[in-house]
Amino acid sequence: MWVTKTVEAVRRARGALRGRVALVPTMGALHAGHVALIEHGGRIADHVIVSVFVNPTQFGPNEDFTRYPRPFARDVEMAREAGAVGVFAPDVEEVYPPGDVACDVSVPALAGDLEGAQRPGHFAGVCRVVAKLLHMVSPDVACFGQKDYQQLRIVEAMARDLAMPYAIEAVPTVREPDGLALSSRNAYLSPEDRAHAVGLYRALCEARRMVENPNVAEADPRVVEAAMRQFIASYHLVVDYAELRHAKTLAKLETIDPAHTPEVVALVAARCGPVRLLDNTVLHVVH
Ligand code: AMP
Repeated sequence: MWVTKTVEAVRRARGALRGRVALVPTMGALHAGHVALIEHGGRIADHVIVSVFVNPTQFGPNEDFTRYPRPFARDVEMAREAGAVGVFAPDVEEVYPPGDVACDVSVPALAGDLEGAQRPGHFAGVCRVVAKLLHMVSPDVACFGQKDYQQLRIVEAMARDLAMPYAIEAVPTVREPDGLALSSRNAYLSPEDRAHAVGLYRALCEARRMVENPNVAEADPRVVEAAMRQFIASYHLVVDYAELRHAKTLAKLETIDPAHTPEVVALVAARCGPVRLLDNTVLHVVH
């Protein structure tokens, strides 16, 4: 497996590959969720390239860019074990050459609220770096986790609207045995916080019960949202948001109506000690 740091080198290495190429963009600190993306890439393509880049433009001024974990040697080993053909790990100056004039890549209709409201500028940073990484590597397909649901929808919209010749592939969320979604930031959790963190998943399970169980079939999204907030708070987490949205457009819902929206997504975010945790699940609305 090769490791490259420059755009020129990754283009040369990619150009030498025959067959379909999948890109798995990551910020490193790889865990089983990233491994699932790499393995998924290996099933739908002949070769998988993993990018490892902690992207400064998607972090806010008071966020954890400088202290974000960077266990690079371990990441390379994990990518190799998961079957990647190469790792592209550019420096910040390679992705953002000093003196270059910045483009603004954004999807305003999807990026304004939820994570976008909590983290101003975050999705503009994500779109810009994902567009750059895609053009640098030129894969046939790029794999993104459903764990970052709003990001996934935004990247899909960006690729479609800008006619990017790359398919976007969604990969299901990998969870701990108790349901907590894997995240590189889980490493910041104290044992006590870790015990509380499962509250997000439990809130999603409650939403699933209320929407999918025919004996309940709750039709009012506000009732489900209030129940999720209550669940999250009962685990000593501080709720940022707990919302039901249209699964494709992320639009707010007036009612939960299978004729109108057969699929809704429950999206939750909460603070758990020093960590902001996100989770979501797609629900199939019953009559
Ligand atoms: P990150 O390194 O956090 O930027 O994530 C890189 C990719 O891995 C993104 O597409 C994430 O959605 C995905 N990802 C992160 N956590 C998980 C998980 N628990 N299960 C599946 N995919 C994940």
